[in-house]
Amino acid sequence: MTVSPTSGAQALTDVLDRIARAAKAAGRQASDVTLVAVSKQQPWDAVAPILAGGQRVFGENRVQEAMERWGERRAGVELRLIGPLQSNKAKEAVAFFDVIESLDREKLAVALASEIQRQGRAPRLYAQINTGEEPQKAGVVPAQADSFLAAVRGTHGLEIEGLMCIPPVGEPPGPHFALLGKIAARNGISRLSMGMSDDFETAIAFGATSVRVGSALFGARTK
Ligand SMILES: *Cc1c(COP(=O)(O)O)cnc(C)c1O
Repeated sequence: MTVSPTSGAQALTDVLDRIARAAKAAGRQASDVTLVAVSKQQPWDAVAPILAGGQRVFGENRVQEAMERWGERRAGVELRLIGPLQSNKAKEAVAFFDVIESLDREKLAVALASEIQRQGRAPRLYAQINTGEEPQKAGVVPAQADSFLAAVRGTHGLEIEGLMCIPPVGEPPGPHFALLGKIAARNGISRLSMGMSDDFETAIAFGATSVRVGSALFGARTK
């Protein structure tokens, strides 16, 4: 399926409008919310119109796929890794991404700290919190979030820019967004990556500073 440039540009305008309206309704500025366009699994035909429309922040969930898609088109684009990261890919991830949103265990913190030291390049980092305590999902459970953040910042010397969560499918997301905000506030963290195509307006009402939107921008993923 090909996506016409017009519909891609229109989808971007629509999502940005919805972000602005949700921010305003929450008494916030639209500029306080960053749109992360989740281009994972999309053909370049679908991504190109969004890039041409002025979007510059993109999210990918796999290191290899992101490098293939963006390697030659990297200039002027901010790339965020939003999918699980294996420690043995820390080297590539530190070299390639501007932001890594899926820091979820100390072993990975060790690997990232060592690569950041070695490469002299430090992606901004988000700790992923498994607010729904789902066994199949990555992220630190809420009860261990404070000690995890203390270890990552203290023992491993990493700066944490924000927290990220993916609420359970089929549950109202509001309480999960509220919980993420609470964990962030008590740990002195001001950035919250939360909200996807189906719930980004709710996330903005709960204080999201970035929303990760895929299908509402690009259409359904092909895989
Ligand atoms: C795929 C994905 C998204 C985007 O999901 P949509 O429902 O298509 O907007 C956001 N965040 C993460 C972590 C994802 O893996």
